[in-house]
Amino acid sequence: MIAVEPFVCNAFAQNTYIVYDEDRKEAFAVDAGMYEEAERLAFDRFLKQRQLTLKFLINTHLHLDHIFGNRFVADRYGVPLYYAKEDEFLLNDFASQAAAFGLQVGAEHLPPVSENSFSDGFSVAFADSEIKTISTPGHSPGSVLVYFPSEKLLFSGDTLFRGGVGRTDLPGGNTAQLKESLKMMTSTFDDNVKIFPGHGLATTLTFEKKYNPFLV
Ligand SMILES: [Zn+2]
Repeated sequence: MIAVEPFVCNAFAQNTYIVYDEDRKEAFAVDAGMYEEAERLAFDRFLKQRQLTLKFLINTHLHLDHIFGNRFVADRYGVPLYYAKEDEFLLNDFASQAAAFGLQVGAEHLPPVSENSFSDGFSVAFADSEIKTISTPGHSPGSVLVYFPSEKLLFSGDTLFRGGVGRTDLPGGNTAQLKESLKMMTSTFDDNVKIFPGHGLATTLTFEKKYNPFLV
């Protein structure tokens, strides 16, 4: 059985997810927003209590609220961090972005540059299946969807929220690209795919096509 556990992290109420296979005792993370020590402990406790081995982390994009815990994940578990190369420039001004939001960052937050960044068409084995990323630029140049095809689980980052979409006024954001990405999304995926956004509640494409003003 595959299950998904959300962890709401940091001042931005960012959704960090642990996706895990209960039988194989393997897990991966989608984003790592853990900012407070308590958030890092909750993430770690969950893995320990269920005796899960974390295999890797995939970032939907590299905005700071999604990567406060990247350093912790890299150091604590020694696993590969996967993210789109197109967002790597955001790591350069991590500290100044944090300062702009009035947030203090320490060494425990500073995101490492990954040797495992990817461009288009990335996939990685997990359990009996494969996890794929699909690039959806717009909210940021390197925004991706993380898709678990055999389970029909889709992690949409800040590209699509329940009833909304991500902002495009941050560095590298592009409204026209976001519209294209959303169009691709609605035509590519089954309506019953379960969507787990980077903020807020889970949803489905059926629901979004009906109620999301950016999709109807
Ligand atoms: Zn974002």
